[in-house]
Amino acid sequence: MMNVYNSLTRRVEELKPLEGNEIRLYTCGPTVYNFAHIGNFRAYAFEDILRRVVQFNGMKIRQVMNLTDVDDKTIRGANAAGVALTDYTKTYKDAFFADLKKLNIQPAEVYPAATDHIPEMIALVQKLMDKGVAYQSEDGSVYFKVREFPGYGKLAHIDFDNQRTGLRCAADEYDKENVGDFALWKAWEESDGPVGWDSPWGRGRPGWHIECSAMSMKYLGETFDLHTGGIDNLFPHHENEIAQAEAATGKEFVRTWMHCAHLRVNGEKMSKSAGNFFTLRDLLEKGYTGREIRYVLINAHYRTGLNFAFDALEDARKSLSRIDACVDRLARVAKTSSHPEGIRLPL
Ligand SMILES: [Zn+2]
Repeated sequence: MMNVYNSLTRRVEELKPLEGNEIRLYTCGPTVYNFAHIGNFRAYAFEDILRRVVQFNGMKIRQVMNLTDVDDKTIRGANAAGVALTDYTKTYKDAFFADLKKLNIQPAEVYPAATDHIPEMIALVQKLMDKGVAYQSEDGSVYFKVREFPGYGKLAHIDFDNQRTGLRCAADEYDKENVGDFALWKAWEESDGPVGWDSPWGRGRPGWHIECSAMSMKYLGETFDLHTGGIDNLFPHHENEIAQAEAATGKEFVRTWMHCAHLRVNGEKMSKSAGNFFTLRDLLEKGYTGREIRYVLINAHYRTGLNFAFDALEDARKSLSRIDACVDRLARVAKTSSHPEGIRLPL
């Protein structure tokens, strides 16, 4: 039996598969415009521990992690570098998989890329248009009409009904009917250059949120067990995923939501300007191993903030050498007794 804290209900609940013996898990993946930073890897390491614990408890796991390979940042990067979007993102997709290996993170079962699933996203947007919960604005973009989805705010536990009047007043300055409305399909703009796909609403590209709803339902079904991500994804990204999926299907989207807390570096929010922004590669270059970095990333409860400091990496090195020495001794003892094959620990 496995109990987890569900962000949706704010309760600790039993995690048991909706069907058979398999937990179907969707994890929001990287935007492949740059090397992922250690804050991203804290979430991926948490998800790795989660899938190992699910398996340890005798259940199977089917994990899907998306690769966001089209958005403002990837397009800007590709156009600035003067290369095709697919060539630009391939570098960072490859780097991401290499980094996961360095951290001994078990691969997900499926890594769908957004650009390979444009038809699925268009179909989902069409469904929302047909149901009257989406509209095309004058600028050509398609938006989700938040006030048409009564459950909006249930994940973030925000009561939008009481805030609506204020939102409507401010909406004049926008193409949207309501400032809370979010883009499902973004109309092509000059700055998009060669990037764009034809759709019933003209040339454009999908919004980020629709990507996760479309791909999760494609690979895991309309209702599935578990969805995770960093706490910064809870609102609006995950809230919007729920709205899109449930408005389209009329069914519950995800049973359990889990969110990993922030990572700070030397007590501060990680930022390039503060000089405390590190990719995994930065730390490897300083001589730390993937195993030591992993140890630090998983050395705090996933729902508590983690302060990443170089002292912690030094401590990790010492702790791991103590663990290794202990395992060596156990293995030597085991070989002489009833375990001739020795003992292997999965760390
Ligand atoms: Zn997502």
